Amino acid sequence: MYPATAYAVALVGGGLILAEGLAVVAEAFSSTPWVSRVLPGANRFPFALGAVGVVLGLAILATASRLKSHPASSRMSGVLIIGISLVSVPFGGGFFLGLLIAVIGGILAATWNPRVVPQPAYGHPAYGLPLDQPVATTQWGPPAAPPFRLGSARRVCSTCGSLNRATSPTCEMCGASRS
Ligand SMILES: [Zn+2]
Repeated sequence: MYPATAYAVALVGGGLILAEGLAVVAEAFSSTPWVSRVLPGANRFPFALGAVGVVLGLAILATASRLKSHPASSRMSGVLIIGISLVSVPFGGGFFLGLLIAVIGGILAATWNPRVVPQPAYGHPAYGLPLDQPVATTQWGPPAAPPFRLGSARRVCSTCGSLNRATSPTCEMCGASRS
């Protein structure tokens, strides 16, 4: 169980920020400022800014993957995603849309609450196991006693020490009667 929606949204946002960073890096080697045309009013971005965008995008993707691998610390990961996204504001991370989506993903992660699963009682086979792990609960408690069969009781003869049926009046070995 992990914040699936926050994970997906943060991946999209981080991916867009990464895409813009790569585009800005590519633009630095191109003769026409095409990224700057997508963002009206913006000047041609320097190569370093694109490199920062790539790093920030990758950082968001890495933090988003932590939502899946470490759902217990999703609050911290969410705050981290929001923080990284806000760093990309000065150069319009992910064409602004990416940073907006990543912030939403971060908020979803920071406010995510895992569904409450009842904790198994002490002595239950599932006690102490991860809550989302299925456990066979058909038998718990002490093991069942072996089935009782009539006539299975035995008695030791006080004369010869042999084992007899408890119901026989005399010893089956030596014939001595019960005392
Ligand atoms: Zn006997």
